[in-house]
Amino acid sequence: MTVLSSLRQDEVDENARSSYFNLPALDVSVAFPQATPVSQFPPCASDYYQFDDLLTSDERTIRMKVRECMEKDIAPIITKYWEKAEFPFHVVPKFAALHIAGGTIKGYGCPGHSITASAIAVAEFARVDASCCTFFSVHSLAMLTIALCGSEAQKQKYLPSMAQLNTVGCWALTEPDYGSDASSLRTTATKVEGGWILEGQKRWIGNSTFADLLIIFARNTTTNQINGYIVKKNAPGLTATKIENKIGLRIVQNGDILLKKVFVPDEDRLTGVNSFQDTNKVFLAVSRIMVAWQPIGMSMGVYDMCYR
Ligand SMILES: Cc1cc2nc3c(=O)[nH]c(=O)nc-3n(C[C@H](O)[C@H](O)[C@H](O)COP(=O)(O)OP(=O)(O)OC[C@H]3O[C@@H](n4cnc5c(N)ncnc54)[C@H](O)[C@@H]3O)c2cc1C
Repeated sequence: MTVLSSLRQDEVDENARSSYFNLPALDVSVAFPQATPVSQFPPCASDYYQFDDLLTSDERTIRMKVRECMEKDIAPIITKYWEKAEFPFHVVPKFAALHIAGGTIKGYGCPGHSITASAIAVAEFARVDASCCTFFSVHSLAMLTIALCGSEAQKQKYLPSMAQLNTVGCWALTEPDYGSDASSLRTTATKVEGGWILEGQKRWIGNSTFADLLIIFARNTTTNQINGYIVKKNAPGLTATKIENKIGLRIVQNGDILLKKVFVPDEDRLTGVNSFQDTNKVFLAVSRIMVAWQPIGMSMGVYDMCYR
């Protein structure tokens, strides 16, 4: 134990490997002099295309703040979470301390950044770890839906705590049989006294195994249109089961959601979602732009790795 505790994690892993396969211990730094431990993310190789010149000083500050957090707090610990396909819950307060959740939303404790600032933050997340980026993006999507489609009371109730990541959100549109053609979704919402009964299934929903609040889209059985609802984590009849054995985004906790007669009070219906086009308001307004910046960030990370 004393010996192990004086070793770096990569050395411990290497010792375990060599004893398991009965091989002599390999000194990585001798075999591959150019190699550095995976826990050290290489510094940014250059300012790609002088991109910084296009940013305001506030946007540059946000960029550097996210970069520093990702290189210092995330890169050193993330590989083992990737291996185990687990989410590093202890880093959530570090993300909260960046004060960037809710990006473009103005008021309600949100930063009201420019779209460019949010986009470059997404890229800096993805540069080091695409899963953490997805965690953050899905949460932001839930926030944006409340901001764009929620009532004043819902915005005041949920957004401040989501901005501090004290309440984590997820966003559930996709179903087992409806992905690309999400507008055909089958989960139903039936009006009852004082609220709605949701019945159906969702698949692939990021953050859903632990999210405090789930944005669920369902078909109104009276109008046949798609409506949106805010569902709480412990709602009776709601279960979210982790999808195992993924080969990508392994740290993202994707879930299969089952809704069995889940009651949602009237006050938690998103009155701004009355058709599938309304879900697109959120998608088209900001979300797809952010998704596009994710591979840009990942490409930056790949470039930095190769440059090293
Ligand atoms: C890691 C991960 C995280 C996700 N997170 C979320 C989330 O948080 N919330 C959420 O709601 N959803 C989420 N999704 C679901 C995602 O939005 C769907 O996977 C996506 O919409 C595709 O749907 P599908 O998987 O059912 O594939 P399908 O729609 O079945 O598509 C399978 C293949 O067929 C092709 N295809 C489909 N239709 C056509 C057509 N008409 N013509 C030609 N080709 C076609 C597609 O391009 C694809 O190659 C996530 C998915 C993943 C993998």
